[in-house]
Amino acid sequence: MIKRITILGSTGSIGQSTLKVLATQPDYEVFALTANENVDLLFAQCQQFRPEFAVIGVPALAQDLAAKLQALGLATKVLSGPAALVQVAADPAATHVMAAIVGGAGLAPSFAAAESGKVILLANKEALVMAGAIFMDAVARSNATLLPVDSEHNAIFQCLGQSSHVDTGVQRILLTGSGGPFLDTPLADLEHVTPDDACQHPNWDMGRKISVDSATMMNKALELIEACWLFDVPPEKIEFVIHPQSIVHSMVEFVDGSVVAQLGQPDMRTPIAHVLAFPERADAGVAALDFSQLRALEFRAPELSRFPVLSLARVVASGPKSLAVTFNAANEVAVEAFLADRLSFLNISAVIKAALDAAETQELHSLDDVLACDATARALTRRILKSL
Ligand code: NAD
Ligand code: MG
Repeated sequence: MIKRITILGSTGSIGQSTLKVLATQPDYEVFALTANENVDLLFAQCQQFRPEFAVIGVPALAQDLAAKLQALGLATKVLSGPAALVQVAADPAATHVMAAIVGGAGLAPSFAAAESGKVILLANKEALVMAGAIFMDAVARSNATLLPVDSEHNAIFQCLGQSSHVDTGVQRILLTGSGGPFLDTPLADLEHVTPDDACQHPNWDMGRKISVDSATMMNKALELIEACWLFDVPPEKIEFVIHPQSIVHSMVEFVDGSVVAQLGQPDMRTPIAHVLAFPERADAGVAALDFSQLRALEFRAPELSRFPVLSLARVVASGPKSLAVTFNAANEVAVEAFLADRLSFLNISAVIKAALDAAETQELHSLDDVLACDATARALTRRILKSL
């Protein structure tokens, strides 16, 4: 059967890796590609993959893109704006949706894919952190399939084996993280680190927002909440483990003492190929692990004082659902300010904590409730930033 895929965020790090893997997958047709503003790359991707739709976030860029595609005789239809993202994610002609937009901007189209029964390949962890309960409910009601792209969650999914959800045989989930570029930096030096320092990840090549999240370990904090929803497991059953080499991508410990781990290169094409081919396997184009060259795999507990968001994540994961929306929104606003040199690195977690302390909890029954809570939390965080 031919699979037809919409790639939300095709010009990003995950989007480009997805297209690299898809280039060797004959059973896939590309249905739609989307980008926020990188119109040149989107144009090049359309030339190569000839999708039915191309969506550009910035409406002013749409006409030019359409004209260039037409000049080449391509039938790709150009749309723009947030409603178009929802349209190509929900279109009955698409069977699969790769959700790879970064941040809360990806929530509405990812949710649309969940509501319309797609096979959702989920990289956009923020969507699940924000809307976990209603997202999982939409997946269940529409009979959608949710497959985790995030390397740790993809690893856990593989380690769990037949059952994709945690049953009574699971003792703990061991969520590994490299610790990022500042794992062993003297604490006093963290005062002055720059956005470029923070984006120098030792093992992974990623977009700037998630790179900063890795440096604060907010990425692991979001991943704790993501794992709770994906595998229906309470936060107490999930342990953070620092693993600087990023070869073990996470582990599951069972009650009989067995620990199952998934290993691989730190290359997102491996989990991407896994979910694209699931339940089969496909070549990801990734070099094999060479065990004769692997000198050591190290593991240790994270320093909670260095990474304060890890403790906050546990409070958020077991608190009212709107706390997770605030947690994510405050981080997005703080990271944006840090990347624009308006906030120091150490103040990212301070701002997140201040937003959590100040936020009023809200009931979340619908996507609109989540989006309203997100808007409130962003406004609150901007006020906190101004007051610094
Ligand atoms: P990126 O910044 O490289 O790419 C983001 C993509 O989203 C781009 O195509 C961009 O055009 C699009 N986009 C951004 N803002 C948008 C908006 N407002 N409207 C529409 N489109 C918008 O990010 P990335 O590193 O590829 O990460 C994407 C998602 O995958 C994130 O949620 C991230 O947490 C997750 N993820 C990434 C990696 C990785 O290795 N990069 C690993 C695990 C999970
Ligand atoms: Mg990850």
